[in-house]
Amino acid sequence: MDVLKKVPVREQDPKVRATNFEEVCLGYNEEEAKEEASRCIQCKNPKCVAGCPVSINIPGFIKEVENGNHEEAAKIIAESSALPAVCGRVCPQESQCEGRCIRGIKGEPISIGKLERFVADWSREHGFVPAAPEKTNGKKVAVIGSGPSGLTCAGDLAKLGYEVTIFEALHEAGGVLTYGIPEFRLPKEGVVQPEIDNVRKLGVKIETNVIVGKSVTIDELLDEEGFQAVFIGSGAGLPMFMGIPGENANGVFSANEYLTRSNLMKAFRSDYDTPIVAGQKVAVVGGGNVAMDAARTALRLGAEVHVVYRRSEAELPARVEEVHHAKEEGIIFDLLTNPIEILTDEKGWVNGMKCVRMELGEPDASGRRRPVEVEGSEFVIDVDTVIMSLGTSPNPLISNTTKGLDINKRKCIIAEESTGQTSKEGVYAGGDAVTGAATVILAMEAGRAGARGIHEYLSAKE
Ligand SMILES: Cc1cc2nc3c(=O)[nH]c(=O)nc-3n(C[C@H](O)[C@H](O)[C@H](O)COP(=O)(O)OP(=O)(O)OC[C@H]3O[C@@H](n4cnc5c(N)ncnc54)[C@H](O)[C@@H]3O)c2cc1C
Repeated sequence: MDVLKKVPVREQDPKVRATNFEEVCLGYNEEEAKEEASRCIQCKNPKCVAGCPVSINIPGFIKEVENGNHEEAAKIIAESSALPAVCGRVCPQESQCEGRCIRGIKGEPISIGKLERFVADWSREHGFVPAAPEKTNGKKVAVIGSGPSGLTCAGDLAKLGYEVTIFEALHEAGGVLTYGIPEFRLPKEGVVQPEIDNVRKLGVKIETNVIVGKSVTIDELLDEEGFQAVFIGSGAGLPMFMGIPGENANGVFSANEYLTRSNLMKAFRSDYDTPIVAGQKVAVVGGGNVAMDAARTALRLGAEVHVVYRRSEAELPARVEEVHHAKEEGIIFDLLTNPIEILTDEKGWVNGMKCVRMELGEPDASGRRRPVEVEGSEFVIDVDTVIMSLGTSPNPLISNTTKGLDINKRKCIIAEESTGQTSKEGVYAGGDAVTGAATVILAMEAGRAGARGIHEYLSAKE
């Protein structure tokens, strides 16, 4: 065994996986996990823990894996995280825990994410469920949104004895974990649902199909429905568009809508008749992780897929691993290319996308080189479907319908980082609704902070 290298993880072959929605990464088995765990040098002052937004005792759980005590490992992780099987799969570990690992200085860091995933999968397969509180304290808290921030806040409050109800606008719980991230990176029935069920087992109620701001307002929850505090974890689900001609054509989707149709409306299953326009030639505009997910989904639905991005490969905001997987599967990257018009046929359907070539100029405020149009470089890409993946912002419904709730210029709710306290008494917020589109683990950290804030507030009131 080469201690400088990670134990390799098995993956589906790119040619095979490009035609199915099965998980790409197959994870470690017990033997591989034990071997990888034995590479951890158990630092006295573990930098990986400082790199984890929810401060999991990483060396602690890895030691238990090395010793074969998987249930103990699961208990250690459960102290800090309600969604380990999710985080083990989708966290950007390279810039967090693994990015700080001492082993990474001379060789490859410990595969912390894959070990977390192994423990979480082992617990699920062996029926390990985190302990629920023995009795409640009779205080009711409402949580808006069942994404990672809402689930984490609800789980932490339930462990403290609160009676928590999550109100979710969609018909299924999980937020982006359920409607956004594709099945081939994060299986829903096998991985996401069991972790949501574990939160339910702590005593949390989840009411779906309730749009707060329409079905009921925050003021009504507090004044009429008997809730003593509210946590807003409503995410940032409102897509942005370019504002170019033809964007209203049939066959133009936001990445969120496209992925929702695939995930939640099960367009990826042949036994479902979901309208998704499984185009023959699809352009995905944008270069972030969401663009990679949309592109890889369209590929699996049978299309030739172009990612159209106005800067060069070095500036692609998506994780290197995602770009690598997309290329392996056959996605075509049209870099330094910017759309200026979506062309349509006589029936209003997409019939090509007019683009210009770009070159990189001086760095802009973000430090990245500014793309500048090359004069006279217009050309048409032959596509019949366009997916816009240009970022999202929070939906203003909640802020528009709640008295005294302050938001900033980007429509994000203003909340204190350490407690989630907003401008309105008894109302806390966290996750993408506060930061704008970010990551699962940062949303979970905010959910934990919100639970602490609400507990302090309600304890002080007593
Ligand atoms: C396609 C895609 C892929 C991603 N991939 C990754 C990844 O690999 N790794 C990573 O770390 N992050 C990833 N992210 C980002 C990550 O998923 C989000 O940062 C995270 O889910 C935010 O959590 P949240 O709880 O704040 O909000 P969300 O997950 O957005 O959940 C908010 C929930 O609130 C509900 N809601 C909204 N308004 C209301 C209302 N008025 N009433 C009731 N309910 C409401 C929504 O329906 C939703 O279910 C990805 C995002 C997308 C879109």
